[in-house]
Amino acid sequence: MEKTAYVNGSYVPLSEAKVSVLDRGFLFADGIYEVAAVLDGKLVDNASHLARLERSVGEIRLELPETTARIEEIQKELVARNKLVNGMVYLEVTRGADTGRDFAFPKGVKPTLVMFTAEKDIVGSPAAKTGINVITVPDIRWERRDIKSVALLAQVLAKQAAAEAGAGEAWMIQDGKVTEGGSSSAFILTQDDVIVTRQNGSEILPGCTRKAVVALAEERQLRVEERAFSIEEALAAKEAFITSATVFVQAVVSIDGKKVGSGKPGPLTDRLREIYVEFAKATAV
Ligand code: PLP
Repeated sequence: MEKTAYVNGSYVPLSEAKVSVLDRGFLFADGIYEVAAVLDGKLVDNASHLARLERSVGEIRLELPETTARIEEIQKELVARNKLVNGMVYLEVTRGADTGRDFAFPKGVKPTLVMFTAEKDIVGSPAAKTGINVITVPDIRWERRDIKSVALLAQVLAKQAAAEAGAGEAWMIQDGKVTEGGSSSAFILTQDDVIVTRQNGSEILPGCTRKAVVALAEERQLRVEERAFSIEEALAAKEAFITSATVFVQAVVSIDGKKVGSGKPGPLTDRLREIYVEFAKATAV
């Protein structure tokens, strides 16, 4: 059965879901996106994703065409129509389709809002058990990485390099420190049991999963430090892991071909993953 997508007020078969070639998302990457996981048919941590959506669109002075409450209704409707059990809902809002290609904001143009779903067994994914290899690449992105913009070319190249190297993620490096993964937040566990992840700021996307994992760890009296770390520090760490809406918590077992810790997913990573899955199940809507 063909899946349904949402395009500007209509539910349409995915193969017929289209926007104009004049859409500013297409021409200028003038748009924002969000991805929320779906677990047992429910949206995970969606309030956090919708809050970040509001912040991102505010930063580029783009008005949402629907309230976030209405957006959540549409997300749920799409999950129901697609009988989605486990996976994700992708949503994108752009500054709409003008009549030409002027860089400045068009007047009187309604933003475009599209959504579609994809299936993924996040909890049962094989990489959750084995962990992933990571490569490093220079971080060549722009200076406002806190905005979840659809301009993802640097990450496309980084993740393609990872795929060609048999790695599951690329960690991006700036000034000798890890910023984040191509589509995930980066963490290490130091030899003295401190969980380290880079502080939020314009250098990284404020990950929703990162935020939840930091809070869940702190609630359990685990020590967390939000600061930059280097690859040397990561290679000397006990454990390393990534977080994102579509992987939750996933172990990193090697970086550029060198083992991290035992070269297997570490016990704290496994524990944080269990804690996050429990949180996701208990709070999904
Ligand atoms: N950092 C980047 C660059 C990302 O693209 C993503 C997710 O796509 C993340 C971090 C993780 O964010 P979240 O946990 O909200 O999915």
